[in-house]
Amino acid sequence: MIHVGIGYDVHRLTEGRKLILGGVDFHHDKGLDGHSDADVLIHAICDALFGALGEGDIGQHFPNTDPRWHNAPSSTFLREAARLINLRGGRIVNVDSTIIAQAPKIGPRLRQMKMNIATALDLNPERVGIKATTNEGLGFAGREEGIAAMAVASVDLPH
Ligand code: MG
Repeated sequence: MIHVGIGYDVHRLTEGRKLILGGVDFHHDKGLDGHSDADVLIHAICDALFGALGEGDIGQHFPNTDPRWHNAPSSTFLREAARLINLRGGRIVNVDSTIIAQAPKIGPRLRQMKMNIATALDLNPERVGIKATTNEGLGFAGREEGIAAMAVASVDLPH
């Protein structure tokens, strides 16, 4: 039976942090603030996967009070989500996602992000969708105060 999940995440842009999106270091002048590497795209995808399982959210699985996740690469979280799906006898059908960022340009790194996510999920890269849009200068994303991401996931489960 096909289950779908939705995920959404936002992190604040701040100086003195790396900007990591989809496991790629963008070498931007600001980075995302957070307990882990603050990879907002991967966090949204994780939440979509946990949502498809009906298994809460990333904050429950990886509390930001746990020192183990301090500066942790978010691919760890993706791999854990994939492990849970395997435990339930399921398989990921596909994930799709959108990054909302005024800057930097995402397009040139999309392929590498897709490969990183597909590898962590042990999935064919064709099953990983990543899109990016600016926010037309509007709101927090438009003012480059933060970056948001949304994702959906489809998971085939035995019941
Ligand atoms: Mg997050």
